[in-house]
Amino acid sequence: MERIKDKVIVITGASSGIGAATARKLAGLGAKVVLAARRFEQLQALATELGENALGVKTDVSKKADLDNLVVKALERFGKIDVLLNNAGVMPISFFDEGKVEEWERMVDINIKGILYGINAVLPHMLERGSGHILAISSVQGHKTFPGTGVYAGTKFAVRGIMESLREELAGKIKVTTIYPGLVATEFGNDITSARILSTYGDFKNFPSLDANAVADAIIYAISQPGNVTANDIILRPLEQA
Ligand code: NDP
Repeated sequence: MERIKDKVIVITGASSGIGAATARKLAGLGAKVVLAARRFEQLQALATELGENALGVKTDVSKKADLDNLVVKALERFGKIDVLLNNAGVMPISFFDEGKVEEWERMVDINIKGILYGINAVLPHMLERGSGHILAISSVQGHKTFPGTGVYAGTKFAVRGIMESLREELAGKIKVTTIYPGLVATEFGNDITSARILSTYGDFKNFPSLDANAVADAIIYAISQPGNVTANDIILRPLEQA
């Protein structure tokens, strides 16, 4: 696809799920992809699969210095960054009265601060170039909450607010897109430690869900719009999800 070919696209959370599916599709369309996550073995395996137009950079998005390093490494290798996809996220959900404060903090650090550090790291480069596109993966839970998902949903409402304000600030200069998926079949939710969540909701793996490729297609739709068109918000759910 002409509008994707040769774009340099940095993807956080590229070691599995939506991030990895998006990287594969984008590389297939001729983009250069920079893959970021903590599990370096997975990143390297994907980078090797995708060939010379892929670079893996070990990154913990809860650390500002890691995002700064990611941008430096992307620029060293490919000379520019056209797109940043802030995708990394975690969902160790629980009920408030379980007091799993460390897990709340992890969600805030990764789902909110991680996105802010990414924006902070890439913005000077994009403003200097006078173009660029910043995307983030929020969630349907950036629009509605469920009992037991309060902190996760809170982080995704925060992503929505941050991205909308970013869009307002950068209008006319940089494109801003937020994607809000419903349930997607990935490794997501494997880190839930609350037995009450599992007994209340059952196994998420049995719920109707989207394939990660469907979310990748929505991301590619946003990235491939012509210069003066921005897809700002995309909500997508499996047909069965209320
Ligand atoms: P996965 O668990 O498959 O992928 C999550 C990715 O985030 C992994 O690559 C993981 O890599 C990365 N990640 C987690 N913590 C960090 C960290 N501290 N630093 C860097 N990378 C990190 O799930 P999905 O693909 O489903 O999730 C992707 C995004 O989609 C998330 O933001 C999630 O909130 C959102 N989403 C998912 C939905 C779903 O139902 N699956 C629904 C709606 C939104 P590693 O562990 O190697 O660091």
